Amino acid sequence: MSLLSAFKGRNTKDELPLLPVREFVVFPHTMIPLFITYPAGIKAVEEALKRDQRLFAACRKDTTNDDATYPVGTVANIVQQLKLPDGSYRIVLHGEYRGRIANVNTHDQINLVTVQPIQTTPITEQEHAEIEALMRAVQRSFTQYAELSKKISTEVLSAVERAETAEKLCNIASNALSIKIEKKIELLELDETPKRLQSLLENLELENEIISLQRKITGKVKSRMEKTQREYILNEQLKEINKELGRDTGDDEFTELEKALEERNPPEEVLAKAKKELNRLKKLQSLSPEAGVLRTYLEWIIDLPWNETTTDANDLALAEEILNHDHYNMKKAKERIIEFLAVRQLTSQLKGPILCFVGPPGTGKTSLGKSVARALGRNFIRISLGGVRDEAEIRGHRKTYVGALPGKIIQSMRKAKTINPVFLLDEIDKLSSDFRGDPASALLEVLDPEQNASFTDHYLEVSYDLSKVLFIATANSLHTIPHPLLDRMEVIEVPGYGEEEKLQIAKRFLIPKQLEENGLAKAGIKFQDEAIRDIIRYRTMESGVRGLEREIAHCIRRLAKVAIEQGYGKEKDIGEFKKTIRLNSLDALLGKRKFKHDVVFKEPRIGVCYGLAWTETGGTILPVETVTFEGSGELIMTGNLGDVMKESARTALSYLRSISPRLSMVVEDIGKTDFHIHVPEGAIPKDGPSAGITLAVSLLSTMTQKPVRGGFAMTGELTLTGRVLPIGGLKEKLLAAIRNGMTDVLIPKGNLDDLEELDKDIRDALTIHGIEQADEAFAILFEPSIFK
Ligand code: ADP
Repeated sequence: MSLLSAFKGRNTKDELPLLPVREFVVFPHTMIPLFITYPAGIKAVEEALKRDQRLFAACRKDTTNDDATYPVGTVANIVQQLKLPDGSYRIVLHGEYRGRIANVNTHDQINLVTVQPIQTTPITEQEHAEIEALMRAVQRSFTQYAELSKKISTEVLSAVERAETAEKLCNIASNALSIKIEKKIELLELDETPKRLQSLLENLELENEIISLQRKITGKVKSRMEKTQREYILNEQLKEINKELGRDTGDDEFTELEKALEERNPPEEVLAKAKKELNRLKKLQSLSPEAGVLRTYLEWIIDLPWNETTTDANDLALAEEILNHDHYNMKKAKERIIEFLAVRQLTSQLKGPILCFVGPPGTGKTSLGKSVARALGRNFIRISLGGVRDEAEIRGHRKTYVGALPGKIIQSMRKAKTINPVFLLDEIDKLSSDFRGDPASALLEVLDPEQNASFTDHYLEVSYDLSKVLFIATANSLHTIPHPLLDRMEVIEVPGYGEEEKLQIAKRFLIPKQLEENGLAKAGIKFQDEAIRDIIRYRTMESGVRGLEREIAHCIRRLAKVAIEQGYGKEKDIGEFKKTIRLNSLDALLGKRKFKHDVVFKEPRIGVCYGLAWTETGGTILPVETVTFEGSGELIMTGNLGDVMKESARTALSYLRSISPRLSMVVEDIGKTDFHIHVPEGAIPKDGPSAGITLAVSLLSTMTQKPVRGGFAMTGELTLTGRVLPIGGLKEKLLAAIRNGMTDVLIPKGNLDDLEELDKDIRDALTIHGIEQADEAFAILFEPSIFK
């Protein structure tokens, strides 16, 4: 006995095969033809045919999910069936009543369900009238729908118009509506008659509205059909749709741009220009590249600050507090800044000289600039001029140029958001010019109070007022700054730091800052002073503190990694993570020491001595070596020496020749001897007069074949008659001597006063000898004496 025939013996009245349908919803009171090709469907149909032709047709809301349940369905009769050769069926169903699945039995892959019919709740008197009204409304709306959509047959229309019960009306009308399947399921599902009618009515009204809208659009668009471009039509349709739905339209974009422009209240000239461009934009196709260019242009105009300002906090005490809070020491620079701010306040002049901070890298020039902004309560922006060669980088490209943008100045003003920010021009000494124009002259216009109220950017094409900006420049050296620029600047020196200063800066600023940046602010991380000093002495060689900050950051990042690995910051509180960085843990964290001094410089050698030079990156040791051999009194000089330095060497030699009778010379006849002076590290150009005394000492050591005392460094210009003249950059030079492990330094007597400005720890780190005459230097540096 087959399984199917076994079912026949059961109470088949209650159990119906479940026919899953996909694209259709079967409604009672309607006939629907279906094509059944899928196995589950075929099985259900066959099972129904074996029984009493009835089945339960149901549809899932979520057709993509095979496990979704069937919320509702319709018990239906197969009134016609045709089996096709491939096994599929064409059937016509007649819906009987709505119902929900009460129970499912699966046998041989056929789901047999018992169905709980949907009972409409009994109607009260009051509801009766409401239902009647709703039915009429539905009928009216449906008639309109039939007219508009032209998809409803007269039979269906008359069936709707004549429907005597709400149930029947709902079923027939819902079936005829072209709406989404989910909506149809909802219409089948609703229990309460008024609600069902209401929902049907809403669907009908919405459909009617959409159809009339579509007609309207097509009608409107048709009349503009001459331009047959597809893009155009689509755009127009979109506009109409948006207009009907009350959304922004293309026209609104223009109104909005115009509104935004006017709200920004730019100067008249700018507004006029922008409006002109806006009018051009209106005439362009909205997706054309040119329209894109114009739109970007207008956005620039809208985004730029034209009137917004911050009010200056004219409080010198506060300014001083802020400067002190942000930076250690720097007394002189801070004093000068406060003076500058005071003068600005007194004269209430907006136009003033431009501050220029000059000093080696990493000495806090940029961060001083930021502090000035903070002290004044102004916004801060910065651009780097290093390597800027092209004028267009400052002034922008014309907007006809593909991908054109405004120059750095205007771009930064947009970021500033106000017309009076503090604007830092970093590395102004690194500007260079070539065939692409002279960026320095563009900058001159930026900085010139006479001209900068109407700065012109090629992209903007209108003038922009920079006169309220407070410009601050930074530079490593003043030599390469073009004179006209330099003339406008008030130079404030920001010199390098000694070891003690660096230690304090590290402890008070760099370490807390790096702990914060690396998420360890709350952890208990400490650096031993000895460890910091070791980093300063043996792991960095610099005037500023950039390398120091980098090494500290390095240590802290290593610790951050350890903290994470040990579970701090997650299961363990980061506050519990405690570490002290000691001298002996540095090698593990940072690798071996990078610099070893003291060794070379302390050894006395013939012909070799050490000068001190000033460079852009701070002071440095300048070793000078001389050898001698038979010849014709020639002086050979190598090591990339500049003219002034070569002259100093000649002067030194002549001076020594002139005093040779007083000296115990080994070289017998200077006229028949060649001297070769070499200053190592030939790749670095060296110049200036301050090596005069060093060159003389090196030559003298060779002539007398006496070694120069070790651990000494020297600086000073030498005259032909042996006087030693003052030099510049004393602090940097002394710091270089200390960094390189020198014990004594010879400086011109004329520079002794400058020492007072230096910190005690710098003065104490060296024995400083002030000299006025070369003889005094010789007396100190040679033992036994080279004098007869
Ligand atoms: P510059 O612009 O001179 O090259 P930066 O302003 O970039 O140098 O300074 C490098 C780092 O050193 C910054 O983190 C800065 O805050 C810090 N720094 C430099 N000098 C000091 C100082 N005197 N006090 C506190 N921090 C300083």
